[in-house]
Amino acid sequence: MSTSNKKRDYYDVLGVSRNASDEDIKKAFRKLALKYHPDKNKASGANEKFKEINEAYQVLGDPNQKAAYDQFGHAGVKGAQGAGFEGFENFGGFGDIFDAFFGSSGGRSQTTPERGSDLKYRINLDFRDAIFGIDKDIAIRRKEVCHSCRGNRSAPGSSSITCNNCKGTGQIKRTQQGFFGSFSQVHTCSICSGAGKVITSPCSECKGRGEEIKDRKIVVSIPAGVETGTNIRLTGEGEAGLRGGPRGDLYVEIQVTDHLIFRRKGSNLSHVHAINIVQATLGANISVPTIDGENKEIEIPPGTQTGDMIKIKGQGSPVLGRSNVRGDHLVNIIVKIPRKLSRAQQRLFEELSKEMIDDKAEPYAREESWFKKMMNNIVGW
Ligand SMILES: [Zn+2]
Ligand SMILES: [Zn+2]
Repeated sequence: MSTSNKKRDYYDVLGVSRNASDEDIKKAFRKLALKYHPDKNKASGANEKFKEINEAYQVLGDPNQKAAYDQFGHAGVKGAQGAGFEGFENFGGFGDIFDAFFGSSGGRSQTTPERGSDLKYRINLDFRDAIFGIDKDIAIRRKEVCHSCRGNRSAPGSSSITCNNCKGTGQIKRTQQGFFGSFSQVHTCSICSGAGKVITSPCSECKGRGEEIKDRKIVVSIPAGVETGTNIRLTGEGEAGLRGGPRGDLYVEIQVTDHLIFRRKGSNLSHVHAINIVQATLGANISVPTIDGENKEIEIPPGTQTGDMIKIKGQGSPVLGRSNVRGDHLVNIIVKIPRKLSRAQQRLFEELSKEMIDDKAEPYAREESWFKKMMNNIVGW
């Protein structure tokens, strides 16, 4: 075991100046670690040298430890001092002491495969496309495994070395004496950031991250009958997993734009259709638009009132997942009173009024309000 007064200055160990940047420190460490790694360098003393390099980088590569070291020297980073490489533990200052009392933070191993994140994409659909379904091209930006290093983060031809600090586990277990006894705690290894491996020559394409951001075009098959809020899951179209983990999923959330005439509630469609007082009184056959694009003839019975509804069966939206089952189309009638009359019409109405002189209209409608009735029928209003 070495003692603090024998310790070399960490900056000297890594061969960098005191004002070296984080990047320079990292670079120097990688270069030296590669040179002195026991697997590669069998010269006597190489192992000791490697431990020293690791120890120096553990402190200088960690902003908190580095600050403590800059101010107090080896005494400022007590945990690292004197423990030697074998029992090397990370004692990170106040943050870690708090962790010991209030629960662990970030002790998760990063050596196991991790599933990629799910992605969400919101797509705006035309009213009709939501009803009948459509194939849509969408462009998404997502994380992919780096094409150059295939995710192993090292430049092609070079390889990463097992992190000696954590022996490749990515974690450091520390036991501390506290007020209430000893605490054992697992921390992410600060040398390899939990990867269990140290990259000596990072891939130049992805800067050693093992992943890259790519724009992708994906065809989404929107099934018939989707609505605003419907989510379509595309398994495995999310972001790439880490360390060989599976891809996440892509969720396409549907947003349907309103139609000029038609309303929709579930698989039923509706629209409001105006007829004139003669059609309402005598009855008529009229032609109404449907979602299929063709007009349909419906029969208005004599005496039809505003608020009456005529159902066209099977002319609604297909039911999601059962595209051969369709809802209905509800035609909601309003009767229009003419605002202007021609001379001939005026004459005929005057004629009619003589005939209807005894037909006193009920001033207070006792029927269910037509408005309420229509609101019930105008689905999706
Ligand atoms: Zn790469
Ligand atoms: Zn490690």
